[in-house]
Amino acid sequence: MKKETLYIVVPCYNETEVLPSTTERLVGLLGELVHGGQVADDSRILYVDDGSADGTWALIEQLAAQHTCVCGVKLAGNVGHQNALMAGLETAIEAADITVTIDADLQDDISVIPDMVARWREGADIVYGVRRERKTDTWFKRTTAQTFYRLMSRLGVKSVYNHADYRLMSRRAVAQLMRYRERNLFLRGIVPLVGFPSACVYYNRSARLAGESKYPLRKMLSFAVDGITSFSIKPVRMVFTLGVLFTLIALGILIYTLVAYFTGRAVSGWASLILSLWFIGGCVLIGLGIVGEYIGKIYIEVKDRPRYNIESKLLK
Ligand code: UDP
Ligand code: MG
Repeated sequence: MKKETLYIVVPCYNETEVLPSTTERLVGLLGELVHGGQVADDSRILYVDDGSADGTWALIEQLAAQHTCVCGVKLAGNVGHQNALMAGLETAIEAADITVTIDADLQDDISVIPDMVARWREGADIVYGVRRERKTDTWFKRTTAQTFYRLMSRLGVKSVYNHADYRLMSRRAVAQLMRYRERNLFLRGIVPLVGFPSACVYYNRSARLAGESKYPLRKMLSFAVDGITSFSIKPVRMVFTLGVLFTLIALGILIYTLVAYFTGRAVSGWASLILSLWFIGGCVLIGLGIVGEYIGKIYIEVKDRPRYNIESKLLK
């Protein structure tokens, strides 16, 4: 029986510190899978160098020379985690029957990859890796992440709770994913929209192997804003609701003023006037900001720029 080819896609941004140990562990795991007859022997580990500023690409070349199963693609600039993942998937799918995406720091437990492959054999096109708990994350990271997941589901965005970008996808699932042409990528939200049969495997998330997080608070926030505004128009509706509420309040105030005028109790209320002026001004600005966010997105989408440019390929 012909075995299926597995590609493990790993985005790397300035990851020289972790790559040697990551490679060692992934090569070991892939070797076991191949020997166990679960995947074909032309299975590969595909590193995507997301325009790293350190020696990541040189290291990938070196690792590829050492191990037959290590490949790499180098992106011409830093396009971010999500776009790097897409670049890797699009490259991998030319040869792979199944892909697994995982972060370079291996915070996600690679020992469940065989389980993912097993779920796929049972018929799941997408297998989500789901964190059982996040003890090793800082309190701050944990709380902000969980708040974000809750907010997303409140806003009606379908996503798998406590699942990041650690997942297995079949070739046809990746092919479908490629048809989502948007530039503001939020894979966690798009993948469930693909809608093929899916399954979950559970694991405990460990601490980063080495190096530091490439997701500082600033990137995390912009990722969250992207996730929400790329999938939900509820913020705009909220502005609308607020507008209706304000009109109603204004109506109430109008009646009050008229009554005060005709009963001769009208006082020149500078304080209340200036207060409402600022308040309404603020609200209008918030509304404009939210609308602007969407216009910004439309602007980016209509330009239809390529997501990434591959500089060089190292495939076997
Ligand atoms: N990453 C990337 N491009 C970026 C930032 C991050 O390809 O601009 C990669 C990074 O190398 C890692 C993954 O995305 O493989 C997740 O990053 P990290 O582990 O730092 O995020 P955290 O686990 O702290 O959320
Ligand atoms: Mg990490």
